[in-house]
Parts: sequence; C-alpha cells; structure tokens
Amino acid sequence: MPSQPTLTFFGAAGEVTGSCTLLETEHARILVDFGLFQGSPAQELRNVDAPPIDFRRLDAVVCTHAHIDHCGRLGMLPRLGFDRVILCTEPTAELLPMVLKSSANLQKVRLTEHRDGTGPEAVVVDPPPDPAIAAAMERFEDPPVLYGAGDAERTARMVVGIPYGAWRDVASGVRMRLHDAGHVIGSASVEFEVKHGPSRTRIVFSGDVGPTGDGYLAERGRCPDADVVIMESTTGARPDDAPSSDIASELRRVVEDCRHGSRTAVMPTFSVGRGQLIVHHLARLAHEGVLEGVPVYLDSPMAIRASELCRRHPSLLSEAARGMSGAGRSPFEFDGLHCLWSRKHSMRVAGRTGAGIVLAGSGFCDAGPVLHHLEQRLGDDRGLVVFTGYVLPGSLAEALAEGRARRVRINGTEIDVRARVRRLHGLSGHADPGQMVDWIAGGGRAPSMVMLNHGDPVAREGMRARVQRAGVSCVDTPAPLTPIAVG
Ligand SMILES: [Zn+2]
Repeated sequence: MPSQPTLTFFGAAGEVTGSCTLLETEHARILVDFGLFQGSPAQELRNVDAPPIDFRRLDAVVCTHAHIDHCGRLGMLPRLGFDRVILCTEPTAELLPMVLKSSANLQKVRLTEHRDGTGPEAVVVDPPPDPAIAAAMERFEDPPVLYGAGDAERTARMVVGIPYGAWRDVASGVRMRLHDAGHVIGSASVEFEVKHGPSRTRIVFSGDVGPTGDGYLAERGRCPDADVVIMESTTGARPDDAPSSDIASELRRVVEDCRHGSRTAVMPTFSVGRGQLIVHHLARLAHEGVLEGVPVYLDSPMAIRASELCRRHPSLLSEAARGMSGAGRSPFEFDGLHCLWSRKHSMRVAGRTGAGIVLAGSGFCDAGPVLHHLEQRLGDDRGLVVFTGYVLPGSLAEALAEGRARRVRINGTEIDVRARVRRLHGLSGHADPGQMVDWIAGGGRAPSMVMLNHGDPVAREGMRARVQRAGVSCVDTPAPLTPIAVG
C-alpha cells in the first residue's frame, strides 16, 4: 500500500446507481456508501456479488443519505463480516433502519410472488417494446434476496448518527465531518482529513447535492475547501439553457385541471425527497385556499414517515417551511391531506370519483400502490397521470411519460390508455450543472482534482467540460475497480 491515500470505485462510476467507494491509506480503510445497482434485472443481479473488499478489515462505513442507490446494500454488511460503525447524520440514522427493513421485506415478498406468479406486472403492449430493451428487461429466474429482516436489524444497530459539522476520528490518521447537501432530509457531503507521512489531504465526497431555490430544505452550504472532490454528475447532460420551471405554478395548474375536470390525478411519487417536496408545495397552496374541494391522498407509508422526520428537524428546513411552522401551520400537513396506511384504504381511494390528487409509490411505477391507481385511471379519458421526475428507460413509466404507450397491461388487465399524461420539470432533487459548478467553487480555492461519479458517460463528459471551464484543470472520470492515488 503506497503512503498516498487511494480511492477505488466499486459502483456509480460511469453509471447512476450502485454507489460504493473505498478510501484507503496505509493504516485506514473506510467505505463511503454501499448502494444498490438499479434498473434492469441484469443490473439488479450485480448486487448479489459483493465487491472484492475485505469487509472485516474496514474501520468504518459512511453513508451519505438514505436513498437506496447509496444505502441499499448496507444490509449485506453483517454477512460480509463487518461489525464496526456506520456513520451518517442524525436524520439519516433515523431513516436507515426503516429503509433497510422495508427493503428486506420487499426482497422477500418479491421472491415469493415471483415463484407464485403473483408479482406486480406493468408492461406496455402497444407499441411493442424494442426487442433489445425487452431482452434487457427479461425477468429473472429468481429475483435476488440480498439480506433478511434479521440482517437489517443487525445493520441498524451499527448505525451511529453524528451532528452536522462535528469532527470525528474514524480511523488511524483519518477524521471526518458531514455537511448538509440539501438533497433530502439528512443528506450529507463528507469531508475527510487524511494524514499520510508529513502531509494532510482533504478529500470531499459530494454525495447527491440538492438544488438551490424554493424548496422545503434549508439552503445548503457549498463544497468545503478540499484537495480532491468526488462529485456527482447526475445532471451533467442537462443543457445550460434548459428552461427553469416554477413548481408552484405547475402544481397550481394540476389542481385547477383536477377541479374543473372533476378528475383524480395520479402522481407516481418517490418516498424520500420528492414526496416531501410535493406535499410541502401542496401545503402552501392549501393555505392559500387553492386546494379547496381537491383532496390529496398520500399513499406511501415511507413518504409519510419521511415527512414526520422533517417535522422533527425544523432547523434543517427552509425559511418558508419554518415560517409556516412559526405561524402555526404545518409545512407538511393541511386540511384535505389524507395519509393512507392500509391497502384497504388505498383500494377505496383508487375507486373514488371526483376531483383529487393521489401521490403513490413507487415513483418507478414497477410495484406498489401506484399500480392499482393506474389500473383504475389510465383507461378513463377523464384520468390524469402526472410524472414528476426520473423515469427508468424501457419502463412503463417512461412510455407513459413520453406519450408513447397506447395499450398497457397492469397486473393482468389490459388497458387502452385514454388518460392524459403530463410531466412536471421543476421538481428535481439534484442541483443543475451550473449549481454544481457554484457548489464546487464554494471552498474559496479550486480543488487540485475532481473525480466525477454518479452519471452516465454523456453526463460525466458534460459535467467535466463545465468544471474545467470553472478553472479545475484535472477532472477525472474514474473507471471502476482501479485504485487511484490521490493527495
Ligand atoms: Zn439521492
């Protein structure tokens, strides 16, 4: 092992998911994130084989936030022999046990349903899918089960929440602190100070970085002063002149559409992050009286819990959200918001008529309550489906969002798509490229090296050009599995 620290990327290098990076020195080994590969069955099967790391020799694992592509494989750690600490922020420490328990349960149910032939089905019948994409989306022989409920519990016992900004020694010669990344509640960038010989190197992992602007989270900070920055490049392919949109106006138009057309809109919703953003903006509209006569149903237990967590951490919320709390109005609750905890209640809402909005998981439209809401609404010419973010290539969600799907099959029922479909663009949880460049310039001096992860090749190249224009000469797009010396 050289005296310089090294970084090895085991996922999210040239792709969007599977975040997992090893920081090593002569005396220390720290893993940053251990997330799931997501997408096609072939992608998911990559999760089964653990990366070639001696997990028993790790000093610590650090988790940047509770999204499954950053934390979804933490539940494998006990079986891999890891028994030390998993460090994260305090809100993430509250979320992780719930996310891992839910993930373990989902893996078990999915396997059972797959073998019984009762699993969720969400496919496009007309037009027939591209044969290459269809082959990539071929179902598994058996969907993988990576860990069980007991593993999730054992993992949860290793999780330690630490306050933002507090230095903590994590291994011999390495200390770290966490900075608010403004992406979801509890999200963090990680700053390491690494001693090697007479030198010290500051290494910052951005984690996922949230946008600036009018959201529910407090204005995030910028990148701390660093020698090396590992930076996400999710939005790198977005053009500089992409139109910005006003979330409040877009949601207001959806509400008016529902009221005047006496229709119920279905919004496929991601639980942690997007769910709180939409509910918060709807709460603002409700307090202006805009939602009169348009009830809202939140059909995702995880989204309900994440909203509760936001309420318990008011110091992490935006000025607007705190202002609402100060005036005695909840930033995540309002008259007319109904939280659905049971399948029975969810089914009743799926069958209701009249104006309304249903926020239902999963955001990918591949499983969960959103499927029975779509089953009810897609064939109705008064139906409305509103997509609010990323759609998986080759999925039902993508075909619907792009207006290509004419006939679909959901859980055995074939449906001609008559509902209108809209797509809102102002709800990204990620900073746009210009904001990422502002973030990285925040440390006062440019880092000597930036490494881009979390982006497909086009996004990484787009981000590389922008970061170079901002004055960073060494911008790397690391390949997986190859240790890179830094510092
Ligand atoms: Zn994320």
